[in-house]
Amino acid sequence: MALALAAPAGLFSCSPGRGKSPLPAWTWYVAGKDRRKIKKDLALFGRMGFEGIHFQGSDEIVAWAAPLARKEGLRIHRWIITLMSRDKKIMKEHPDWFVVSREGKSSFDHPPYVPYYKWLCPNHEGVVRHLEERVRDTARIDGVEGVHLDYIRFPDVILPKGLWKKYDIVQDMEYPQYDFCYCDVCRGRFREEHGIDPLDLPDPSADNAWRQFRYDSITRLVKHLYEVAHREGKQLTAAVFPTPSIARRLVRQAWDQWTLDAVFPMIYHNFYEKDIDWIGDAVQEGQQALQGRFPLYAGLFVPAIPPERITEAVRQSRMNGADGICLFRYSVMNEKHWENFLV
Ligand SMILES: [Zn+2]
Repeated sequence: MALALAAPAGLFSCSPGRGKSPLPAWTWYVAGKDRRKIKKDLALFGRMGFEGIHFQGSDEIVAWAAPLARKEGLRIHRWIITLMSRDKKIMKEHPDWFVVSREGKSSFDHPPYVPYYKWLCPNHEGVVRHLEERVRDTARIDGVEGVHLDYIRFPDVILPKGLWKKYDIVQDMEYPQYDFCYCDVCRGRFREEHGIDPLDLPDPSADNAWRQFRYDSITRLVKHLYEVAHREGKQLTAAVFPTPSIARRLVRQAWDQWTLDAVFPMIYHNFYEKDIDWIGDAVQEGQQALQGRFPLYAGLFVPAIPPERITEAVRQSRMNGADGICLFRYSVMNEKHWENFLV
């Protein structure tokens, strides 16, 4: 199944002399200010027969690049950082919008893991209005076909195992300083629905209703933003954790239940101390949970894939039913990678 706005037939045959990716390919792309470089990169993706790009850049750069991308035969979705926020205006005016841990500390002034880990609470009315505006304004940019949500989740209550060493941390259970959100809005809403303050639960980490409440908080926000994008005639896609089970456990994403045009799980095998063949298992779990509701593009972490194994990574995705793949980061693709990527 291709992404809903089907690519014209023959899109991948427009690179004479070059091969093509055996699966529809996308890439995540962070644009700098150098317009010449962006133009060159877009031409490269066009030549390689890519289906689309998730493009991160300023309003001005996105508006400038969108028509160029389309000229290269590429779909362009604007890639936005959704619930993690470094917005100075929000910090100044709305410190109460940020998620609060089970210890009662706000990620605004007590961010977990790293100083920039400040996250907005999906249940704050103000946060919802703010994101609604961002999605609507982005969707109104000419040539942009969709909005791509990244960091659409809670902060990691448990980090991927491959990162424990980096942060000198062992997370064999949910610890209170990494467990969010216990802000007044979330506690109030949960109490209204279930008759108890989540802080009064005997073990909040083991409570199914409280866990479900947080899955639903994100699921509801995504559905709302999907409607906003679609009202403007645009699509909504998202980058998510690798499988529905891992995504629920680590960051409260029940993404197989979301309303989307396509999902891009970041199947970064090395983050989970797995080998490349695990990519196939992850794709399979995702597709089984989705049951064809929307397409799944397997996000591949190129820095952990040697050139001679990229064929295998793509094959694992294809054999297990991925609708496409998406590269992170294309910039570490060397000649040998490209050679093995295109067949
Ligand atoms: Zn909250």
